[in-house]
Amino acid sequence: MKDRYPRTVADFVETARLVIIECEDCRRKASLDLSLLELTFGADFDMYASMREMRNRLACPGCGSPRPIISFYDPHERAGTDVSFDESVTRSLEFSAYNRARAAS
Ligand SMILES: [Zn+2]
Repeated sequence: MKDRYPRTVADFVETARLVIIECEDCRRKASLDLSLLELTFGADFDMYASMREMRNRLACPGCGSPRPIISFYDPHERAGTDVSFDESVTRSLEFSAYNRARAAS
């Protein structure tokens, strides 16, 4: 995983990314267990390319409403301006990949 942002379930585990689902009906939020995602979809499952498939398989744990909103969160993301150029490029790539995946899902 060099010179790119985390994409697969294995990458997400390695970088401790959080996967948050939010219900559009009851607004409840929950974080998904990555080991469960790995069991369900496999370690090489692409979280961006397959967001639609992932949404179709998920439901709100509170009210059971289908297709919750999926978002990714990097708990290690540093706030402020002390970010290298490479890091900021990687971050904006990651952000636009997320927006594309979200729009397509
Ligand atoms: Zn709900």
